[in-house]
Amino acid sequence: MKDVPLLELNDGHTIPQLGLGVYQIAPENTVDAVLNALEVGYRHIDTAEMYGNEKQVGEAINESEIGRSDIFVTSKLHNAMHKPDDARRAIDNSIEAIGSDYIDLFLIHWPLPKLYGGDFLATWEVLEDYKSKGHLRSIGVSNFQVSHLQKLIAKAKIEPAVNQIELHPYFQNVEVDDFGQTKNIATEAWSPIAQGGVLDDPVIAEIAKQTGKSTAQVVLRWHIQRGNIIFPKSETPERIEENYDIFDFELDDNQMADITGLDKAENGRTGPHPDRFDYCPEYKRPG
Ligand code: NDP
Repeated sequence: MKDVPLLELNDGHTIPQLGLGVYQIAPENTVDAVLNALEVGYRHIDTAEMYGNEKQVGEAINESEIGRSDIFVTSKLHNAMHKPDDARRAIDNSIEAIGSDYIDLFLIHWPLPKLYGGDFLATWEVLEDYKSKGHLRSIGVSNFQVSHLQKLIAKAKIEPAVNQIELHPYFQNVEVDDFGQTKNIATEAWSPIAQGGVLDDPVIAEIAKQTGKSTAQVVLRWHIQRGNIIFPKSETPERIEENYDIFDFELDDNQMADITGLDKAENGRTGPHPDRFDYCPEYKRPG
C-alpha cells in the first residue's frame, strides 16, 4: 500500500492526511482498534477527552513497537473545561492520559457560544500558552462557524492550524470550508462517510463499480483529492484496512464532480448545529 500524504499545517508541523477516529469506541475496545490501525500503517489517531478513551489510545501507542514521535495524536478540550484554570487542568490531564509530555494537536472541541458568555478567547490564550511551551505542538478548533473564526482570528496571537468540522458528500459545509481555505486553516472532515449514511448512494455505488473500490473507499478518496484531513472511525479490522487502502487509485474530474453534486447543504447535516450546541457533561479525569 502506498504511503499516506503528509500535509503541512500553517505552523510548519506536518500531519498525516488519513488517521483513525476513535469516537464511540468503548475504552475496552480502544487498545485493540488502535493497535490494529498502527499495524496496518496508520500514524494518526483522533481522540478527545469527551470520548473517554484517551488513556487507552496512550496504552496502545505504548504497547506498539512504534515510537511516540512517529505517531500524530489529536485530542480536544472537554466542554465543561473552557474557563482558563479548568482548561489548564484538563490539558495537563489529557497529556498525562495519552502518556507523553506533549500532544501533537489539541482543539477546542466546540465553540459553545451560549455558555461562558461565548468567551472562547480566554480559552484560546491557554492553548497558545501551552503551544509556546511545547506541550501542544499545534493548536486548533473544532465546529467553529465563520463568525467564531473571525472573532478568534481578530484577537489570536496564534491562528488555528485546523478547524475540524462535519463534512461529507451530503453536507459539504461549504461556507466554513471556503473561509478556512482563505485563512490557511486546514479543514479536518469529521464523519467523513456520514457514519455510513452515504454508502448506499447510487451515484457513489456507480463510481465504486467503475473503480473496483468500495463505496467507503470512493468517498474517502474524494476527501483526499479535495485536500481534507480525515480519520474514519472503525473498530472492525477489515474496515480499518479497507479505509487505509485508498492511495492506489484516482477519481477523475467527472467522478469528483458527481460526488460534489450530492451536497444537500443544511439538510445533509447529521450532527448538532454549532451555534446552538451547549452539551456540557460533567468532567471526569480521563482514566
Ligand atoms: P464515520 O463517518 O467515520 O463513520 C463511522 C461508522 O462507519 C462506524 O459505524 C463504522 O463502523 C462505519 N464504517 C467505517 N468504515 C466503514 C467501511 N469501510 N464500510 C462500512 N462501514 C464503515 O463517523 P464518525 O462520526 O465516527 O467520524 C469519524 C471521526 O471524526 C470520529 O471517530 C472522531 O474522531 C471525529 N469526530 C469529531 C467530532 C467533533 O465534534 N469534532 C464529531 C464526530 C466525529 P464500525 O466501527 O463498526 O466498523
